Amino acid sequence: MFVSVDPILNEVVQKNPNEREFHQAVTEVFRSVEKVMDSFPHFIYHKVLERMVEPERVVMFRVPWVDDNDQLQINRGYRVEMNSALGPYKGGLRFHPSVNLSIMKFLAFEQTYKNSLTGLSLGGGKGGSDFDPKGKSDLEVMRFCQSFMSELFRHIGENTDVPAGDTGVGGREIGFMFGQYKRLTNEFTGTLTGKGTNWGGSYLRPEATGYGLVYYAARILEHAGDSFEGKTCLVSGSGNVAQFTVEKLNQLGAKVVTLSDSSGYIFDGDGIDDEKLEFVKNLKNVKRGRIGEYKEKYPNVEYHHNPDVSDFNPLWNHKADCALPCATQNEINEKDAENLVANGIKLVVEGANMPTCQKGVELFHEKGVLFGPAKAANAGGVAVSGLEMAQNGSRIPWTREKVDQELLKIMTNIHDMSLEYAERYSDAGNYVDGANIAAFIKVADSMIDQGYV
Ligand code: NDP
Repeated sequence: MFVSVDPILNEVVQKNPNEREFHQAVTEVFRSVEKVMDSFPHFIYHKVLERMVEPERVVMFRVPWVDDNDQLQINRGYRVEMNSALGPYKGGLRFHPSVNLSIMKFLAFEQTYKNSLTGLSLGGGKGGSDFDPKGKSDLEVMRFCQSFMSELFRHIGENTDVPAGDTGVGGREIGFMFGQYKRLTNEFTGTLTGKGTNWGGSYLRPEATGYGLVYYAARILEHAGDSFEGKTCLVSGSGNVAQFTVEKLNQLGAKVVTLSDSSGYIFDGDGIDDEKLEFVKNLKNVKRGRIGEYKEKYPNVEYHHNPDVSDFNPLWNHKADCALPCATQNEINEKDAENLVANGIKLVVEGANMPTCQKGVELFHEKGVLFGPAKAANAGGVAVSGLEMAQNGSRIPWTREKVDQELLKIMTNIHDMSLEYAERYSDAGNYVDGANIAAFIKVADSMIDQGYV
């Protein structure tokens, strides 16, 4: 008997008005799960879905800090501890002016199922602040991070909640937060991941999300009898995920022709080779400049400044074989998806979290575009964070090669499991349903085992 999830989705909207991104993330998972509900009546009896949409805990707090002009600034901090059925809450911290409760909850919800797919003992959480690190001095960033951690520290711990980086939070920010955490608790533990390799970090954590994304995408192509060799790729963003996505794509013989930031994008028809990528890494990670400066260095490329109003993103309107969105949520709208399809795109794999709108995903499925959803495709970052926790627990660091092998193994498993669950419960090759259903069943069974908590 078909069991509709509509009443639960309606209640989510009613109880959480104005949380558009959270509604979108819940709808995507529950529409997949709806297809199997009749096979799992105990999920209905134990009200697993109703419990999953209520975070176990949400912390919201004031973050006061003083800028370089001696002016007091106030930001808002968050930590959403969504689900601990599989392990300590785990998920990144995002510093970006767009951060709000809806975005935190959507990310924490997604993270719960992503972490389930890794096969590691990790619950789901996410946090951050509406603080914008862009244009701030190192000392301003440090003062902000110390103030943020002065409240967050009491809610986290190596067996409770282990944050990592995300948009706007890289090695510099993790360092400042780790220092303050250590000072407040008087303990050197692995409570944050993404640490420097001199002080407890894992090799390959910075590379992990981008490398993992390309390992996953390569497996999709391999299953379809193809490879990245000679493929033209559109990549968006130019931060952590985008940079290491390009690096691995170059290693596999693909040609990447675009990168972007929130000001605009570059199109380099000759391809962003390793030397140009080094320029981008220095520009973004050291100089903290804008992607438009790429054109000053390489004048033959196109730079498109974002128009104030546009119903589509021209980055997605270039002819290419593959698209790997690595910037932010909902960056591929319906029109962008139509443009990609019209230009003959073969593969879309999501590096950012929820970068494709629901209609776009439906269109890709309808048109037979190979589509790898974020919670499976970008799980490499949290997977290596899990490996960092294992190394911290034993206090023995692994070699780069060992971490890389484990990452490849985890991404291959996620791919194969998604495929298997899609075949068993949905349409063959529907990686969205496959990943959602595989991840959901494990979390749901664990919640039932642990009683009504
Ligand atoms: P970074 O802060 O390193 O880079 C983000 C990039 O995306 C920047 O180029 C940024 O440009 C651009 N960007 C951000 N917001 C917008 C926007 N509204 N419009 C256009 N461009 C934008 O973040 P990450 O690379 O770490 O994260 C990128 C995505 O990947 C996010 O969705 C994140 O949640 C996801 N992710 C990250 C993981 C990780 O390990 N870091 C793990 C799994 C997922 P600008 O500099 O102008 O802001």
